Amino acid sequence: MEPLKKSARTGKEKQQKIFQAPKGMHDILGQDALLFDDLRSVAGAFADSYGYQYIELPVLEDRELFVRSVGVGTDIVDKEMYVVRTQGGDALALRPEFTAGIVRAYIQNGMQNLPQPVKAWTFGPAFRHDNPQAGRYRQFWQADFEFFGADHPIADAEVIQFAVKLSEGFGIPDVCVYINTIGCAECRGQYRKALKAYYRSKSRKLCSDCKRRLKTNPLRLLDCKNETCVMIRKNAPETLEYLCKDCSDHFRKVLGFLDDAKIGYFLDPYLVRGLDYYNRTVFELKSGNQRRQESAETDGFEQNAPAREPLSFGGGGRYDYLMKLLGGQDTPAVGFALGVDRMVDLAREERAKAFKTGPNVYLVQIGDAARMQALRLIEELRTHGIAARFDLSRDSLKAQLRNADREQSAYALIIGQKEVLDNAVILRDMQTGIQESVLMHKLLETLAARLKQKHKTR
Ligand SMILES: [Zn+2]
Ligand SMILES: [Zn+2]
Repeated sequence: MEPLKKSARTGKEKQQKIFQAPKGMHDILGQDALLFDDLRSVAGAFADSYGYQYIELPVLEDRELFVRSVGVGTDIVDKEMYVVRTQGGDALALRPEFTAGIVRAYIQNGMQNLPQPVKAWTFGPAFRHDNPQAGRYRQFWQADFEFFGADHPIADAEVIQFAVKLSEGFGIPDVCVYINTIGCAECRGQYRKALKAYYRSKSRKLCSDCKRRLKTNPLRLLDCKNETCVMIRKNAPETLEYLCKDCSDHFRKVLGFLDDAKIGYFLDPYLVRGLDYYNRTVFELKSGNQRRQESAETDGFEQNAPAREPLSFGGGGRYDYLMKLLGGQDTPAVGFALGVDRMVDLAREERAKAFKTGPNVYLVQIGDAARMQALRLIEELRTHGIAARFDLSRDSLKAQLRNADREQSAYALIIGQKEVLDNAVILRDMQTGIQESVLMHKLLETLAARLKQKHKTR
């Protein structure tokens, strides 16, 4: 049962439940809400220019869709899915990620008949019953981008470039790409065997999850965050040594294109991503100064430098088998997802500057006639891109000017009885207190010039 709290105010034995957002889920408000919105429009603008069409998907999908795509033995499927039983007995899951749903939609809506390649993106919440920690939520938001119908390595490079440019465009500092290849159905078998042999020799030291993974899904051993398992990983065989010629060529070309595009990257031989459907290229996006960290480790310099652990905020890769696995035509694909919550955290400082610029204007009115005039003026200012702040329910000049002060408005526009009769407005510089009367038809022009001046001197 939920804990009950006695209401102290009434003094009676009345009991009042205090409602809270579910554990690991959070409200998004204030500046964060603006940043969410902002990220969505930045993503939308980038998606447009790279040719991605927006699609909206159900939050619930057939549970089986994720079991088949994400894979048995992954944390997502084994532990983290919210499964809902419908009255009719169907098992649905709150989407733990987007790729499987987009692939399902591609097949169901006959998108293979569209001119290829097809690029689609979406934005919304996903759900994982994870242990909540800083920056990680059970309901989290993602922007997800998928590129279907191109098997050429340039597609991998294009997607990575797009991911980097979008992240930088939003204001993520020190974006870096961690990249690896996990081979194809052919060469991955060899690698898996080598990996299994290596881990079997260490199996006594592995955590209980990894003991299980060794049997069900050996590639997932590399994802384990357990300290001992991370130590053991240091000598594990690397995918690069087991690639077939095609996979090795593909990877070399992807890196070549990234070099040409001047996209920096780090090779991470143990990056395999926590999902089963990937093949060949996998990558993660992190924010943080890797070089500074490395030099601190190797030569002992800069030990006092704030070398924070690079934070991962997105990732993706190629998944050429997934379409067929889910019942569609054989279609190569590559894509990635960005963690919106994490990105908002990382870019808060940088983006906050953008929200602080633009000195605003406060509209003050005294009397009913002025109120009518003010309502008209708000619309006029709005159509000219000037956001006015106001509280039309107030009458007192003093109270309204106090609000203008609190909002740090650059100017107050004051309309009283006299101004209504003269068809004018008093323009008050909030910093100096200097006032002047401006005729209504000159107002926009005058205001624009003054705001421009203020902007310069800030
Ligand atoms: Zn291969
Ligand atoms: Zn482990």
